Amino acid sequence: MRSAVVVGAGIFGGSLALRLVSSGWDVTLVEQYPPGHVRAASGGESRLIRFSHGTNDWYTRSARRALDLWRELERETGTELFVPSGVAWFFTGAHGWDDASERVLSEQGIAVERLGSDEGVRLFPSFDARGLDSILLEPEAGLLRARDATRVTSELAIERGARFVTGKALPDGDAVLVDANRLEGDRVVWAGGAWLAALFPELVDLRVTRQDVYFFGAPAGWQAPSVPGWVDFDNGVYGLGDLDGRGFKASPDREGPTFDPDRGERTASDEKEREAREYLALRFPALAGAPLVGTRSCPYSLTEDTNFLIAPHPEHEHVWLLGGGSGHGFKHGPALAEYVGKLLDGSEEPDPMFALDARSPGGGLRAPWIER
Ligand SMILES: Cc1cc2nc3c(=O)[nH]c(=O)nc-3n(C[C@H](O)[C@H](O)[C@H](O)COP(=O)(O)OP(=O)(O)OC[C@H]3O[C@@H](n4cnc5c(N)ncnc54)[C@H](O)[C@@H]3O)c2cc1C
Repeated sequence: MRSAVVVGAGIFGGSLALRLVSSGWDVTLVEQYPPGHVRAASGGESRLIRFSHGTNDWYTRSARRALDLWRELERETGTELFVPSGVAWFFTGAHGWDDASERVLSEQGIAVERLGSDEGVRLFPSFDARGLDSILLEPEAGLLRARDATRVTSELAIERGARFVTGKALPDGDAVLVDANRLEGDRVVWAGGAWLAALFPELVDLRVTRQDVYFFGAPAGWQAPSVPGWVDFDNGVYGLGDLDGRGFKASPDREGPTFDPDRGERTASDEKEREAREYLALRFPALAGAPLVGTRSCPYSLTEDTNFLIAPHPEHEHVWLLGGGSGHGFKHGPALAEYVGKLLDGSEEPDPMFALDARSPGGGLRAPWIER
């Protein structure tokens, strides 16, 4: 039986552990905090799952495949994880991302509708189309209950036989050191999210930033799934309807300050709140004066070009590094695990776009602007 040690029970590591143990591997999953914990990127309540990725076929296919696998996980765990709200994109610029997304979605048989900006009023209880050129609606996209999904993924992996080790792991050649225990496997995968770069400072170049999320108290009519998830691509703001009573989410997507995921204070900034409120006033006028009912702060771990990092360690061929979610990784979790499973058993070669090599800025898989 092949064996693997996976470090990190965020959605990347947890999904991989589940995939491997379900395929007959002997798996050890190491995590320093409980799966779904608040410090991890995967510990937020909700994440968008959308399929549009401009011209990029790989991410489009991966996100759509992931939806099927999320549905499978729902059936296997009896937990509602996917909320079928659709996702609406708002566009103002002539960058071509919208046309490219529409084309790639259509080529892959994924539902997509181009709406006039004035049609936003049929999606949201209050909508102002000022400045918008068009809306791209992905009716089969939606929301994921992220923290629940992260927790049940690891729980199912454990139920299927993965050994769970609590502790802070350190690299030790081609093995993993947890306290005095040296864990070895045919494959070792470091899926450490915002902690990955500090574990391999010579190899991994990730910027870790604090991202603040705001929830506003909205009246009846603003609940998900009747209100879609939304992304204003050019203004760099995204959000979703009130999910599970948490409030209407509106978050500026611009990259925040550098952040220490263990010790950093998680107090959302007043400046970003002001930006979120300005956006509500512009686009969803009925929410202009809505009270702030909650905030969350969590880390982005960003590669230069927003492509994930999936690469073997240059000195230890059986050790793999997996991360660089770059603010858009969650949705891919189970499909990414399927892909990485093939890399680990040698049935597929890693794509160079995920390599450790230096990246050129501005891949734009999340937004057209990347701040330096
Ligand atoms: C505010 C915000 C909004 C986002 N919105 C979306 C969205 O709408 N859609 C989307 O698809 N994605 C979104 N993302 C991105 C997505 O959440 C991340 O890409 C994804 O969760 C990354 O998962 P991960 O497993 O790589 O990292 P993490 O979830 O951070 O998990 C890493 C885990 O490794 C553990 N670990 C690290 N080092 C060690 C060690 N040495 N020993 C033991 N354990 C260790 C950590 O404790 C942690 O649990 C968003 C992210 C943020 C912050």
